[in-house]
Amino acid sequence: MANQSMDNQEFLDPNKALKLYDLDIFTLGKMADSIRQDYFGKKVFFNSNRHINPTNECADVCKFCGFSAHRKNPNAYTMNQEEILRIARDSIEAGALELHIVGAHNPKLNLEWYLELFKTLKANFPQIHIKALTAAEVNYLSVLSGKSYEEVLKLMAQSGVDSMPGGGAEIFDEKIRAFVCKGKVDSTNWLKIHKIWHSLGKKSNATMLFGHIESREHRIDHLLRLYYAQEDSGGFNAFIPLVYQKENNFLNVKNFPSGQEILKTIAIARILLPNIPHIKAYWATLGLNLAMVAQEFGADDIDGTIQREAIQSASGSKSANGILKDELIAQIKNAGFTPVERDSLYNEIRLY
Ligand code: SF4
Repeated sequence: MANQSMDNQEFLDPNKALKLYDLDIFTLGKMADSIRQDYFGKKVFFNSNRHINPTNECADVCKFCGFSAHRKNPNAYTMNQEEILRIARDSIEAGALELHIVGAHNPKLNLEWYLELFKTLKANFPQIHIKALTAAEVNYLSVLSGKSYEEVLKLMAQSGVDSMPGGGAEIFDEKIRAFVCKGKVDSTNWLKIHKIWHSLGKKSNATMLFGHIESREHRIDHLLRLYYAQEDSGGFNAFIPLVYQKENNFLNVKNFPSGQEILKTIAIARILLPNIPHIKAYWATLGLNLAMVAQEFGADDIDGTIQREAIQSASGSKSANGILKDELIAQIKNAGFTPVERDSLYNEIRLY
């Protein structure tokens, strides 16, 4: 990857960054694509992963959430560890190299429960990469256990967690955040948790949930906060813009972003975040077609096979059953790119 970390300097002024949205989509796409091509050429990264969401019983009530059990989603569930072990075994036999474990804030599943789970998974499958617990979950488990972030994160690392996912960032602006997910980890602490995790020599990702009640200004603010966080700790591997899914939740959103607005946001992310190597067009929230188009607008990663997914699909996305690896490879090739299977830390495993 070329070192372009200084290239976005003029856009560190939020007003100038905001003006990027005024450019026509092709000009913006070209700017983002030139960075993307410089970093990765025609490669599109994906991995073979399995999402496991142990519970949807949640002590929090984020308005955008269709996953947690509430009156629009009465199907509460909590898995036991045997069940998770069985799923992990089946998934690994089916080719998964990564277990992506995130769920709701369930007071019945305390820190010890999770640590035990990670240890058992690692004991049974030492080769598997465990990507687990969003900063929101870390914050919740810290409050529940009375342990500091540092203690929780060290225990996670000692118990087998290899990297952290980027969820729970939602939108950093404090006012919007207080409306859409009051009670969840605040923005400062979300960033602090990732900084501590990076200081342990570990990697993580970062997300932004957009397309709900936030404005373009809020997105720019979010991206710039991530830019400075990355300058500080350097441990983010990928930025993942998540498009808000509209079903089964309590956020009364009238206008959804157009495909053009989504692509512009991805392109702007590529331009504003030259210091975060990868921009992921997460097909579970974009749909596969738009995720493929996004590869020409700054994105270089499409996530993975997923196998099963409960969070985005609970709010309307078509990701519940994942996608077959061969199909993903064929789609990437058909779009004129080179599929690259990667591991969870973006080491290349195979070019197709
Ligand atoms: S987004 Fe997460 S924390 Fe918020 S209600 Fe849903 S499961 Fe709970």
